[in-house]
Amino acid sequence: MADLILATDDSGGPEIFASLQGEGPSIGKPVAFIRLSRCNLACTWCDTAYTWRFEGDNRPHRDGAEYERKANQVKLSPEEAAAKIAVLGQNRLVITGGEPLMQCGPLADMLAYLPDIEVEIETNGTTRPSAHVDIRVDQYNVSPKLTHSGNTSELALIPERLDFYASDPRAFFKFVVANPDDVVEVDTLQREYRIAKERLFLMPEGTDSKTLRDRQVWLSTLCLSKGYRMSDRMHIHLYGDTRAT
Ligand code: SF4
Repeated sequence: MADLILATDDSGGPEIFASLQGEGPSIGKPVAFIRLSRCNLACTWCDTAYTWRFEGDNRPHRDGAEYERKANQVKLSPEEAAAKIAVLGQNRLVITGGEPLMQCGPLADMLAYLPDIEVEIETNGTTRPSAHVDIRVDQYNVSPKLTHSGNTSELALIPERLDFYASDPRAFFKFVVANPDDVVEVDTLQREYRIAKERLFLMPEGTDSKTLRDRQVWLSTLCLSKGYRMSDRMHIHLYGDTRAT
């Protein structure tokens, strides 16, 4: 049975914690979180670059930060990870990253030790789940990356994967938006993949309260005129841009 590769918290331990979901349709729900390391994309504004931007990775990031792999990754067996989640006493689990669907094998093994927990998965939408993971998922939070992320559309917007999620009623789309022009790209994707507007969120990019609030002023107007939903990033207001929150 393969191990899971997790991100680390400030103490160097695995990033498994209880908190309120800060984004998307489940905002405010008390949940357990597990953050897996590694990502197949490289967003210039990624707020969890410690999951992928290790020594020697020169893909651009606005902070230019480089992370030591050894200090920012930790391995746990699926059974060990499940035990750490169970002890948090929550009935819902958010699996996030990085891109967690890069580790479907050990993820499915971990979920087998947590037979009763509800499962929410955060994905960038470039990867499909395995059948063993998919059968356990109650909600997908799919966040396809737009041009301002710095990823090419060939890598970030894969038609077959977007079709897969758009046609699944468990999937909600959460687009990270930094400028009003970004919403033009969202409109195109919404039409092209027929994403139900009640399952489409616009969320401001930002890692401090002021940036989020400033962007929500014009974002709320756009959501009203287009029929999209708006997501906050509640954990940023509560805890700042910190690990394990
Ligand atoms: Fe970061 Fe998510 Fe982009 Fe990966 S897809 S680089 S985890 S923001």
